[in-house]
Amino acid sequence: MTADENLKHKDLDGKRIAADMNAASNDDVERLKEGGWAPRLISVVIGDVDAVEIYVRNQKRAAEKIGIAFDERDFPADITEPEMIAAIQAMNADPRVTGIIIQRPVPEQINVKRLQSAIHPLKDVEGLHPASIGNIVYNEIELGPCTAMASVHMLRKTGLSLSGLEVVVVGHSEIVGKPIAFLLMAEGATVTVCHHMTRNLAVHCRQADAVFVAVGKPGLVTGNMIKPGAAVIDIGINRIEDAAGNGRTVGDCDYESCSDVAGWITPVPGGVGPVTVAMLMHNTVTAAKRQMEFYGNTFAADAWTTSPDQNGGRG
Ligand code: NAP
Repeated sequence: MTADENLKHKDLDGKRIAADMNAASNDDVERLKEGGWAPRLISVVIGDVDAVEIYVRNQKRAAEKIGIAFDERDFPADITEPEMIAAIQAMNADPRVTGIIIQRPVPEQINVKRLQSAIHPLKDVEGLHPASIGNIVYNEIELGPCTAMASVHMLRKTGLSLSGLEVVVVGHSEIVGKPIAFLLMAEGATVTVCHHMTRNLAVHCRQADAVFVAVGKPGLVTGNMIKPGAAVIDIGINRIEDAAGNGRTVGDCDYESCSDVAGWITPVPGGVGPVTVAMLMHNTVTAAKRQMEFYGNTFAADAWTTSPDQNGGRG
């Protein structure tokens, strides 16, 4: 085997993992449609459409591939927060809308947390409503935050047992790092959370069987910080320019040096990103199922095909 083949062997292929998840979601979409409950996702963009274009395009493509209707609603950059909340409440009240995504960033006069809180929890497909985030502490993760759920799903794909695993999470944001730590604790992992005040990041990382990195700093984690054979889940997405001025997307980990020592590594692009979109679709299906159940349809919930593993093994 050549050195290159060796490296590829270690890659956790996000596109392949996403394709498996989408196939399961697709089966459930068909069943939802048969039950008269076709999932419909609304993408809310406020102001700068160009800034979010690539995310919206990827989500739309994934949704349409598995039969989920995807509507784009663009709002003007000078809309007020009360007007935006009223628009969200109208979507909450519309039974044809089963899921709502708020694309970030939003203009500064809008408080994105207040907007997210205005979404009905049953339609919170991003899993970012305070109720969804809080439920993680109770180990109820039917609608968990997509990136965190996707990252933990990728670690499971290594086949490592999470019970007793030493894991370091670098970055403690509300929507990525902290939820990852809670999801891992629920699986019995021993979790250390690092942030910008952590005194010696390398010492913590080198002891870990798995390292999650969600910071937004290219090259923050290098191969000499990784224990041989450990899993590296790189969540960062950064645009950098080489000396010739060519732009490319990289993660927070130095891929070359980390992949030399890691047992598994998620490439950027092509790692956590596609699985996050697949998790959004999975959540969209889950949200539609819950609405169908909540609003009184008789329904065999245990007949769904979606993998229970995506709900942390709790079905
Ligand atoms: P964020 O809200 O800016 O949080 C960054 C975190 O990194 C903070 O907790 C910060 O800690 C910590 N940090 C900063 N400098 C550090 C250092 N030197 N050492 C250790 N920790 C440090 O960002 P985010 O929303 O969590 O996103 C993080 C990255 O993931 C970004 O690159 C983003 O683009 C990417 N992302 C990817 C996906 C995906 O689908 N793949 C989804 C969402 C985000 P303090 O608060 O203590 O400073």
